[in-house]
Amino acid sequence: MSERQPYRVSGRTGEWEVVLGLEVHAQVASHAKLFSGAATGFGAGPNEQVSLVDAGFPGMLPVINRYCVEQAVKTGFGLKAQINSVSRFDRKNYFYPDLPQGYQISQFKEPIVGEGTLEVERDDGSRFVVGIERLHLEQDAGKSIHDMDPHWTYVDLNRSGVALMEIVSKPDMRSPEDAAAYVKTLRMLVRYLGTCDGDMEKGNLRADVNVSVRKPGDPLGTRCEIKNVNSMRFIQQAIVYEARRQVEILEEGGSIDQETRLYDPGRGETRSMRSKEDAHDYRYFPDPDLLPLELDPAWVKRIQDSLPELPDAKRERLQSQYGLTAYDAGVLVGDPVRAAFFEEAVKGRDPKLVANWTLNDLSGRLGTEGVAFEDSPIKAADIAALVELIETEVISSKIAKEVFEHMWAGEGAPKAIVEARGLVQVTDTSAIEKAIDEIMAANPDKVASAKEKPQAIGWFVGQVMKATGGKANPAAVNQILKAKLEA
Ligand code: MN
Repeated sequence: MSERQPYRVSGRTGEWEVVLGLEVHAQVASHAKLFSGAATGFGAGPNEQVSLVDAGFPGMLPVINRYCVEQAVKTGFGLKAQINSVSRFDRKNYFYPDLPQGYQISQFKEPIVGEGTLEVERDDGSRFVVGIERLHLEQDAGKSIHDMDPHWTYVDLNRSGVALMEIVSKPDMRSPEDAAAYVKTLRMLVRYLGTCDGDMEKGNLRADVNVSVRKPGDPLGTRCEIKNVNSMRFIQQAIVYEARRQVEILEEGGSIDQETRLYDPGRGETRSMRSKEDAHDYRYFPDPDLLPLELDPAWVKRIQDSLPELPDAKRERLQSQYGLTAYDAGVLVGDPVRAAFFEEAVKGRDPKLVANWTLNDLSGRLGTEGVAFEDSPIKAADIAALVELIETEVISSKIAKEVFEHMWAGEGAPKAIVEARGLVQVTDTSAIEKAIDEIMAANPDKVASAKEKPQAIGWFVGQVMKATGGKANPAAVNQILKAKLEA
């Protein structure tokens, strides 16, 4: 095994280290907004989910959504973090057309969740720990739409007021791959907790990436923040580009301006959006409309006690309970729906077989067809039934592949397919014997050579399978062939 090499950007003056910290905005999976009762569903028409509070009408007062607070606490426990029994909401003041209040309600000095950790696994199985700085609750802004009209910008306030958990990491990552692995692990955690859907395409998980470079061993350099990157691939591409850009500036004797940048996936580059504001620019002050948030310790304890099984614990259990390899268990756990599918299918069946069919055949097919596991046309009960047919030797593994194709095409349960298509394995020894006798009679030369060289038996096995349409039980074929050739 080779040692993992640290990620470096090589420049004219030598090698540079990249330092990365992430701020992930995770939308709370709630039906109502953080401070209003308006709905939050995806795909509604423009401005259909806007209350007077979200639209910033005068005199409207925010009322905290208890469910959203509970999800933040849950996520805090998942991050092994400090849960703060008292936290405060502040106004972060800035003007934006899609922010009708003129400020965002966020948490500044006293967030609901403090320091924690997240253990991240890389693709090669190695692990590293990322420190969590904090998690705070805040409102999302609306959306300005610039491309619907040549002259006008439209504003959609459906997102205005939607609850976000902003999860801030420490600058603990050192490569684009590690940053992506961190987001992947964090997304898996919130999906297990049920606190966020983690669907980056729908924008309910987005990452701001802080990038700086330095010579190894030097103090931290000035960072730039790349805003709202919404896919694992773009996170990596943006980092690679941005690190290279900073190295080039520094090597030419320049300095990095602390600023907010945007990644343009079409051009594969980051560009300046605005010079980075400091906290004092926002004129934070406690929101006078909201009381400090005080958590009842008994309520917090109940949340802690009701946490579901988390990914690490599940992976270990799948290995010990079903004898799966660390790799198989890891892939299953990667998607909670897939893990649940496996556990439903495996009841009373051979775990290794069920894992293979779930991971190789079904996952592979879903992947190539771009279908999510929850929308799989083949259900857990179908995989269980298919594996049962293999275990009871009704069909061979080879025929099972064919049955799988018919299952995918929606032709019904495996047993019905096997019966309708006459795919039942031939274990009737007289039928197999008859086929063998015919082949031996037609090929005396092959018989002679097989008597000399026992490995030549393979040719006969192939011929018998061909003659029976692949339905002969391979063990029976081998046994009868051996007996006849040795005779
Ligand atoms: Mn934020």
